Amino acid sequence: MGVMHIPGHTHQAPREVRLDEIRAVLGDCRLCELCQTRTNIVFGVGDPRARVMFVGEAPGRNEDLQGEPFVGRAGENLNSILSLAGLTREEIYIANVLKCRPPGNRDPKADEVLACAPFLREQIRSIWPDVIVTMGNPATHFVLKTEVGITRLRGRLHQMGHFIVMPTFHPAAALRNPAWQKLLEDDFRMLGDYLERHPAAPVPSAQGPVAQESDALPTAGE
Ligand code: SF4
Repeated sequence: MGVMHIPGHTHQAPREVRLDEIRAVLGDCRLCELCQTRTNIVFGVGDPRARVMFVGEAPGRNEDLQGEPFVGRAGENLNSILSLAGLTREEIYIANVLKCRPPGNRDPKADEVLACAPFLREQIRSIWPDVIVTMGNPATHFVLKTEVGITRLRGRLHQMGHFIVMPTFHPAAALRNPAWQKLLEDDFRMLGDYLERHPAAPVPSAQGPVAQESDALPTAGE
C-alpha cells in the first residue's frame, strides 16, 4: 500500500496536507463493503494540530448515527479519564482505523483495514502528533505493526520514528472489566507524566529531515 495521493500535493510532508483535503478525497467512499451498511462516515474530530492523537478501532452504533467518534459510553469514559493525562477533549484528535461501522460491531476484516487505513495514515501525517494513543488490539496492531496482545504491550511507551506510541485498553472494553479500567487510568497518568516531562516537538519543515520520518507511519498490509 503506497502513499495516498492528495490532489495539489507532490510531497505530502508532515502537516502539509489539511484534514479537509483528506476528507474530500474520502468523499462518499465505497472502497469496501461497509459502505452498504453505514449511516455516516466517521472521519475524525478534534484539534488538527493536536499533540496527542487517539486511534480506535471503528465506529460503534452511536458514532455511526452521529458521525462522530467516541460519543457513546466509551466516549464518556474517555472524556472522564483524559484529565488524568492533563488533557481535554478539545486539545486532542480522535480517529478510527475504519471510518464506517462494521455491522453488529464485529471485528474489522483484513480487506477493510487495507482499504481504509490509508486515510488514517494521511490523517496522522497531517496532524503529526508527538504521541499516538492506540486503544484496543486492532488499532495497536495496525500502528505498531505487531500481533502481540494489548495486555503485553500496554503500560509502557513505544518509540516509532517520530512518534511515541502508547497502547492501552479500549475505553469500551474497560467499562466491562474493572481491572482493565484501573490499568487504563494508570496508562493515562503515565501519559500525563510523559507530556509534562517532554516539551512539544518543533513544528516540522516540509523539506527538513523530519519529513523523512513519515516513513515510520503505519502501512496497511505490512
Ligand atoms: S470503511 Fe473506509 S474504506 Fe470502507 S467504505 Fe468506509 S471509508 Fe471506505
